[in-house]
Amino acid sequence: MLFDERFLFTPGPTPVPERVKVAMNQPMIGHRGEEFPRLLEEVSRRLMPVFGSKSPVMLISGSGTAALETAVVNVVEEGDHVAVIVTGAFGERFAAICEAFGANVHRLEIEWGKTCSAEELTLFLKKTDKVFKAVFATYCETSTGVFNPIKELGEAVKQHTDALFIVDGVSCIGAVRPDMAEQNIDILVAGSQKALMLPPGLAFIATNDRAKAAIQKCRTKRFYLDLNRYHASFEKEAQTPFTPAVSLIYGALEVCNMLEEEGLDQVAERHLLLKEMVRKSVPALQLPLLTSDENASSTVTAIVTDTGPAKQLKKILAEQFGIVVAGGQKKLKGEIFRIGHMGYCTPYDVLKVLTGMEMALQQIGEGKKLGVATAKAQEVWLRQLAK
Ligand SMILES: *Cc1c(COP(=O)(O)O)cnc(C)c1O
Repeated sequence: MLFDERFLFTPGPTPVPERVKVAMNQPMIGHRGEEFPRLLEEVSRRLMPVFGSKSPVMLISGSGTAALETAVVNVVEEGDHVAVIVTGAFGERFAAICEAFGANVHRLEIEWGKTCSAEELTLFLKKTDKVFKAVFATYCETSTGVFNPIKELGEAVKQHTDALFIVDGVSCIGAVRPDMAEQNIDILVAGSQKALMLPPGLAFIATNDRAKAAIQKCRTKRFYLDLNRYHASFEKEAQTPFTPAVSLIYGALEVCNMLEEEGLDQVAERHLLLKEMVRKSVPALQLPLLTSDENASSTVTAIVTDTGPAKQLKKILAEQFGIVVAGGQKKLKGEIFRIGHMGYCTPYDVLKVLTGMEMALQQIGEGKKLGVATAKAQEVWLRQLAK
């Protein structure tokens, strides 16, 4: 069987559009020449609406975790009390980074698959007498496929503390419409290889003035990830303090073109359609969804496959159909698999993964499955076209 491509449905990395690949394939330029500052200036500014940020977005070469670590190391000092909302593996990661830098981490543990409500956070913040330097949250918890209610959480942080509200948007920025001011977000971070349609390797950090002041005051030892250096370099000459990932930044410019051409609201709506197509169709295969409709992310869906033949689904999809989905992480390992539908993903792509699932389940004798899920998804798409 000829498969000249893998069909990538992991919630990062995600497929890279041809246009973006072409845009990256350019002769190398010196980053201290005249051309690069123009490129960086343009990308950092055109990303502002994507992050809902009032100031240019800083770019650091590194994966999403570099963005997370940047947010921590520029704000948190050893001994500081911080609250971390843990709704899954990536909340855990924020907590682990804070601990690595000697913070007193207070975890607000939420059952995996659920979101943290503003009431839960308020109770948590009120029951302690500690003064928190920062409250950390995950926008899209990729390990379970939920969207935490960031605006409500931001409101609670603002009402009950003077803490900075720091949000991991790695797996949804580029697919949602954040507004840092309205959501009370002080620092919002993202990575390139998720909804931003780029290869891995770029970390994005958006800050407001309040965060900038805290970053200037923070005495934690840091060098490569010192945001003060990035801010100073950018403000002075639209440069980066160290060699930038030039090719990825060319790609980011093309991503801005694509997002603007489609329209940021339309991009967010497309993701809602993809989510709805997956969620309305998968139960028809007798596979339960991990999360409720209200809590569900528009970028990634977790499907429970902990029993029987469904356990083999992920393997069959890859081996027979070239479709790559992701398994569960940590405590959900072996319990679920996850379909990423973010970034460069169309309704046809969703039909593709559903077709593969139908055929795989049919093969392992799970009853008559052909057409069952795809029909549901097609109905969702048609309903949206009729609007
Ligand atoms: C992928 C991801 C990260 C980490 O990104 P890496 O690029 O693997 O370092 C952090 N947070 C969330 C929510 C993610 O989905």
